Amino acid sequence: MDDQEQDAISWPPRGTCPVCGSEEVFHDMLGMPTPEVFYSAPPWVSFGCTPTYRDRHCGACGHEWCLPERDAPEDDDPESDDPGSEEC
Ligand SMILES: [Zn+2]
Repeated sequence: MDDQEQDAISWPPRGTCPVCGSEEVFHDMLGMPTPEVFYSAPPWVSFGCTPTYRDRHCGACGHEWCLPERDAPEDDDPESDDPGSEEC
């Protein structure tokens, strides 16, 4: 397993709106990424510290939805105090 950092950060496909079929789909990411991720992100990816109950929203019709698969690695081990997992 290589632990080296990747130059190109691969983003998931932008996808289309399930309601209107528009490709004006925006990805809403919770939390601030690393600067590399932030600056390499496509313009249709937005980052924020405000909890939102959506993962995507449509710029055409305003529809908001969540991805069916969602990783929730929180509360995995309440004993370990990970200093790197600071919420902003
Ligand atoms: Zn739409």
